[in-house]
Amino acid sequence: MKKDLQKSVGWRKIQDDLADQNGLAIVLLEDEGLSPIHTSNDNSVCRNLTKSKEFSSECQRFCGKVYSSAIEEGKALKYKCHAGLECIAVPIEDSKGKKLVAITGRAFTKSDDYRVTTDRAISGDWKDFPLTSFFENILLTSSTQNLEDLAKQISGLSDEEKELLSKVKEKEQLKAQSTQKEAETDKKERPTEKVEKKIESEKEELSKLIEKFNKKTEEHTALVEKISKRKTEELREINAWRSLFSSLLNISYKKACQSILEFLRDRYDISSLAWLESRDGHLETILAIGALKKQQIQVSMASNDKRLINAVLDHSSVELRERKKSDSEDDAQIIKLFPIAVGEKIRSALVLGEKVNDRKINRQISKFCQTVAPELEILRLREELTRRSWLQVALHKFNESLKMIDTEDFWSRLLQTTAELLQAERGSLFVYDEKANQLTAKAAIGSKADLIRSQDIKIGKRIVDNVWKRGRALVVPDFSKLRIQPSPDDWKYKSESFISFPLAIGGRKIGVLNLTDKVDGGIYDDFDLQLLISIAPQIAVAIDRATLKSRAGEFEQLSVTDALTGLLNRRYLEKRLDEELKRSNRHGYPMSFMMIDVDNFKSYNDTYTHPEGDKALKLVGQTLKDTLRGADVAARYGGEEFSILLPQTNMEEANTIAERIRENIENTEFPNRKVTVSIGIASASMDLNTPDDLILAADKALFQAKEKGRNNVQIYQSSERELQVS
Ligand code: GH3
Ligand code: MG
Ligand code: MG
Repeated sequence: MKKDLQKSVGWRKIQDDLADQNGLAIVLLEDEGLSPIHTSNDNSVCRNLTKSKEFSSECQRFCGKVYSSAIEEGKALKYKCHAGLECIAVPIEDSKGKKLVAITGRAFTKSDDYRVTTDRAISGDWKDFPLTSFFENILLTSSTQNLEDLAKQISGLSDEEKELLSKVKEKEQLKAQSTQKEAETDKKERPTEKVEKKIESEKEELSKLIEKFNKKTEEHTALVEKISKRKTEELREINAWRSLFSSLLNISYKKACQSILEFLRDRYDISSLAWLESRDGHLETILAIGALKKQQIQVSMASNDKRLINAVLDHSSVELRERKKSDSEDDAQIIKLFPIAVGEKIRSALVLGEKVNDRKINRQISKFCQTVAPELEILRLREELTRRSWLQVALHKFNESLKMIDTEDFWSRLLQTTAELLQAERGSLFVYDEKANQLTAKAAIGSKADLIRSQDIKIGKRIVDNVWKRGRALVVPDFSKLRIQPSPDDWKYKSESFISFPLAIGGRKIGVLNLTDKVDGGIYDDFDLQLLISIAPQIAVAIDRATLKSRAGEFEQLSVTDALTGLLNRRYLEKRLDEELKRSNRHGYPMSFMMIDVDNFKSYNDTYTHPEGDKALKLVGQTLKDTLRGADVAARYGGEEFSILLPQTNMEEANTIAERIRENIENTEFPNRKVTVSIGIASASMDLNTPDDLILAADKALFQAKEKGRNNVQIYQSSERELQVS
């Protein structure tokens, strides 16, 4: 009997198939509670949130409440829930007139909404959910149109389907009924004849019922088969895609694109395909197989072109005609482009290099592009996350390398950590030598590095000279497209893409940094340039200090550093302060300055002797070095006073750094007794734009910090504000 029951199929299968074919969730409700009659392909975000104590009430406000509203209004209701998921609640009636509601969708239609969810799950209020189960089944769809299509399918149920819907709970009820009867029969002791008879008749009744049920079930099965037959072909296709998708889970985004091209080639017998990505608002080829490999396709269409968006909405493609150099239009090739969109954004596109006339294949490829889009978006976002955490590690290493200006391998270490940040396998660093009036190669990494270091270089020098002269960065995606003599073959560049970047402090040019051979043959783009722009000031400052130190040997070094603490001296600081202020005025960068004075230091000397005082000052200097960032300039201003110049730092950031310094000194173990400092901060502004003004302002703030009882940080407020207060 049980076997017969299991065989039964019905509404549940129809609902599961519909959800699968559309890549959306369907949840069937019979009341406002969050325990549905049947759930198909649910989004794992919903699965986790509805089960949690903390967030289920939020879900209740949306998916729960919607049951009554949809029935009351008697029409489908579209809404976006608290988790950013698009849903449509469709009221339906089964053949017995029972009112039910199907919630369809539960999918992200905007990648921004999905991003918010990833952020919340990784570091926000949802971070306690286990990541794997939270992201197990994310539903993303290219547009709300897909939801509307599904909602239409559900609201237009046929009578046969409504009949199945009315039986949706019958299977369970019967099952429960029969097990109960069996149990009761077992329990009975040897019954009297009368009772025996009764049981007999009950048994008969039951077996009739089961027979009836089985007959019905057979009818249902036939019905379901009839309904789903037209869908099986599509389902088979989707199942084939699914095995491709599961193979994409553990590979990089680019490799996934390659696998997709190969899959389509084999499945639909298309010999030539290309993959395009949207970059800076345009579609660029990143991968190709077959004949398209030799031709770099350039689509003269912005990624937000209406024709592309319409093609996504209509499940169709865009036909492109090749611009021929000759006038004979006849041989102009026509190629088909299938846009791949997430939400309303065109992320990438697929190009078929040959004309495929089979409409069915065209339709399948279009559907494929829509189905693969969310899978790829997940891969892309995951890669971005890994990149972000990796970037943090690389940035830390880079910052550490900036502190090493005293070490012998400063130059190569600086270049190495910069190259790591930009994922370059090859690079060189040229620094301007004032005396020789030329650019000198200070470090080179990767193959042929020794050639560059030995200065025996002609190739590439022109680019370096050019970037030096113009003072503007050069980001080249493809070297072969530049009208420049190519490098000799034995230089064996792995990629044709490179960055050449001018380094400067304010208007003063310092050198040129070259990076190439991005790992995996990647191409340098705006992201890399922005990264370089943000770290370039730090590199320039470190180079400047290292050059100053090494330029004229010991004597010069003595003249910029303080002998006791090894920090820079007041002379250097005032020079640098002047330069940085000019730069800050010119470019509008923020800049801050702080004065630090050791508290009650006279008594330290008096109690423990002057040499002991010297030891303490040395330790204060060391603590400052350890606390500061690479680009900050710490100096011994004189006596027990120190000052720090913080380039590109606003008042708020300076305050945080000052607090950290104050705390670190307080917590450092000094040989004789606790040592504390007071700090005054001033930030460059319209009123504070000369070195003298800035020093004076920081001094005033320092005086206030002393007034407040020492071991304290104060920020200088302009006199205008002081007047307002009084
Ligand atoms: P406060 O700043 O908290 O107001 O009190 P203070 O005792 O630090 O006051 P003041 O600035 O008047 O004293 C600074 C003392 O720092 C005076 C001097 O003995 C000591 N000092 C200055 N330069 C050096 C130095 O190079 N080595 C040592 N050992 N002591 C120094
Ligand atoms: Mg003092
Ligand atoms: Mg003092």
